Amino acid sequence: MREEELLRKLTQAQGIAGFEKEVRKLIEEEAAPYADEMMTDAIGNLIVLKKGTGGAQTKKIMFAAHMDEIGFMVKKIEADGRIRVCNLGWNWAGSAYNSRVRFRNGINGVVGCMGSIEDAKNDIGKLYIDIGATSKEDAEKYVKVGDVCGYDGPYMQLLNDRICAKTLDNRIGCYQLLEALKENDGSCPNDIYYVFCVQEELGCRGSKPAAARIQPDIGIAVDITPAHDYPCDLEGSNTVDEGIAIKFSDPSVVCDEDVVSAMVECCEENHIKYQREVIDKGGTDASSMNLSGLGVRAGGIVVVTRYPHSQSAVASKKDIEAGVDLCTAISRHVFQF
Ligand SMILES: [Zn+2]
Repeated sequence: MREEELLRKLTQAQGIAGFEKEVRKLIEEEAAPYADEMMTDAIGNLIVLKKGTGGAQTKKIMFAAHMDEIGFMVKKIEADGRIRVCNLGWNWAGSAYNSRVRFRNGINGVVGCMGSIEDAKNDIGKLYIDIGATSKEDAEKYVKVGDVCGYDGPYMQLLNDRICAKTLDNRIGCYQLLEALKENDGSCPNDIYYVFCVQEELGCRGSKPAAARIQPDIGIAVDITPAHDYPCDLEGSNTVDEGIAIKFSDPSVVCDEDVVSAMVECCEENHIKYQREVIDKGGTDASSMNLSGLGVRAGGIVVVTRYPHSQSAVASKKDIEAGVDLCTAISRHVFQF
């Protein structure tokens, strides 16, 4: 793997949707030496431009990787010190139950349930966070209404070049864009905008103003996608270790067929292992770029990930690296439209 320590650091940083500063700072420091231009917009997106060689064939390509992760926001503190929360992004109650969380100020907690987790169905309102406080007054010294927390847990190695960590959705994409930026020596025909977006987990909010500003010819989401290879609640063809996944569609977007063909061509020419991705649940920033301005050709480069939206997501280092290779190949591609 190119820089596993960078991926580890990205997963260990915290960037709950709407509160991405810590992750953005880390990415900014990493990207600065390689950027032609860099700015943070009003909503918090970090936009990094690497110019191409120019000419009639030049396309503006916007790669969008979201920095934010799912988490919880405090809505009420009970008399006995239990902290009640609401969702920031889609949390699965069964996965949150008994897991460890961390607030931005470093306060740790464990998620409990008022009753059996089976009866809670998927209602986050039935959960609470135990920070060890003995009363509301005690809890309020450390945590207040409006504070946010997210999952906590180490970055672990599994067998066969697989890793397990929190927030692989979508620090994998952030890592891939940083590595692709480092490989862009300015000799690409295309102008490449590496955009690290905010609030994707709340409905692709950040990528909208970023796409409006850039007005790209092509918008490509760089994200993860759920695996279907082990028995789970989803069905499809996504398989860990079968290569980087090229998005064809999800419920929010149908990818541009010329962009998809270009991606397939890039993989075949450069011997990058790839698979074809179709999902019937979920979405990415491809949708918001697709519908921005007068319309933008959309695509997606996604890493198949097991147990996404949990503290223990699993992905293959080989798939992640193939994704960097594809971002680099697309940057160098001369598009025929
Ligand atoms: Zn994501």
